[in-house]
Amino acid sequence: SPVTLLGPAQIRELAERAGVRPTKTLGQNFVLDGGTVRKIVRQADVTPRMPVVEVGPGLGSLTLGLLEADADVVAVEIDPVLARLLPQTVAEHVPGLRRDDDERGHAVLRDDEGRARLTVVLQDALEVTALPGPPPRALVANLPYNVSVPVLLTFLERFGTLEHGLVMVQAEVADRLAAPPGSRTYGVPSAKAAWYAQVRRTATVGRSVFWPVPNVDSALVRLDRREPPTTTATREQVFAVVDAAFAQRRKMLRAALAPWFGSGEAAVAALAEAGVDAQARGETVDIDGFARIAERLPATSL
Ligand code: SAM
Repeated sequence: SPVTLLGPAQIRELAERAGVRPTKTLGQNFVLDGGTVRKIVRQADVTPRMPVVEVGPGLGSLTLGLLEADADVVAVEIDPVLARLLPQTVAEHVPGLRRDDDERGHAVLRDDEGRARLTVVLQDALEVTALPGPPPRALVANLPYNVSVPVLLTFLERFGTLEHGLVMVQAEVADRLAAPPGSRTYGVPSAKAAWYAQVRRTATVGRSVFWPVPNVDSALVRLDRREPPTTTATREQVFAVVDAAFAQRRKMLRAALAPWFGSGEAAVAALAEAGVDAQARGETVDIDGFARIAERLPATSL
């Protein structure tokens, strides 16, 4: 393939040339290792012409890997310096693309058939409500650590066409996202992610593949869209019950939910109807269980 990936020397040179100083607040740790990039792309099951959305392209390490696999990439980046640099970097590493920005001012690189291979959206991913181009089928990203879970949940919620995702997050966050009910790390992220997807932690990635080197290891997480639980409750109601159930981890569910149902007795009755043990704590209830509980919320509680 004629695409060249970024290695340590290119990353350093790019950063120097553009005056990029990676910041912790934006979770800027750039991948220096082509092997890691190709592993992410492989696990993402990217196929030619697949519309893929990437959050936080940074200097373009993963973007180039996605383009190498012939995906069409929409990249959402919050940092204006990085967003401006990206089309230039991609044009230098993927032959045959020309700049042809769209009517909304997004930087676009097209191939000789006019196909948009890269579109750059300069925006906070949490505020993105619509994306340019064909509806995205996959989310592939090395997510900024401080907002990884909200970005993931927001994208799964807003972009129903996403069939699957492959994201790199902190190892600890990966454990929480993929945790089954009853395990030590099961919590709000696990329950909410399970509303949208089947979640698996697929690999550990050491900190040495990044510049700057972070102080924690990372991991890859694969998400495959599932039908949300069948329920008469809204997603908001179910998530509110999840939040309440984990707000005080030590409390039994019937105590945590008593204010919602008006009394401890009413909560016990609702849990019984929902088929959830009244002695249980949030840690043991799966997303379907939370949905059955939410269905029984009195109309006045939300
Ligand atoms: N994809 C690149 C790579 O693998 O080398 C960079 C990944 S770096 C961990 C995270 C990237 O997300 C940075 O480029 C950062 O500027 C960007 N970012 C941070 N917060 C963001 C947000 N709220 N919306 C969009 N991008 C964000």
